[in-house]
Parts: sequence; C-alpha cells; structure tokens
Amino acid sequence: MTTITCDMCKKVIHDAHRDVNYETVRDLDICKSCMKSFLRDLEDEIEDRDPYTLQMQRKEYWKRLAKATS
Ligand SMILES: [Zn+2]
Repeated sequence: MTTITCDMCKKVIHDAHRDVNYETVRDLDICKSCMKSFLRDLEDEIEDRDPYTLQMQRKEYWKRLAKATS
C-alpha cells in the first residue's frame, strides 16, 4: 500500500482513495479538506474581480496552487 501525503497540509491521508478523500492535480496530491478550502478561497478572490474570464480563473488557480503547495 502506498502512503499518500497531502501536498498542502503535508499530512498523511489515511485510507486514501483518489477522488474520494483526495484529488490528484498534475503531480500533486491534495486532501479533500484542503481542496475544499482552496477552491472556496479562489472563488472569493475571483468574485471580487469584474469581469473575470475562465482564462483568468485558470491562471489564478495554478498560481495559487503552486503557492499553497510550495
Ligand atoms: Zn491537506
């Protein structure tokens, strides 16, 4: 059994099942609770901007993801 560690909170994800209690984005494993708060923060940030495009959202997504997992 492989041990999965969340790349955001650096905690081991017990009984890890992809897309159930963690998600894989590119080469990163992110636990469900980190992904949830990450997406919520991203939405809040983007809602404040007018107008926002999908391209902008995607750019912000990767920028924040890199920062959160660094
Ligand atoms: Zn986490």
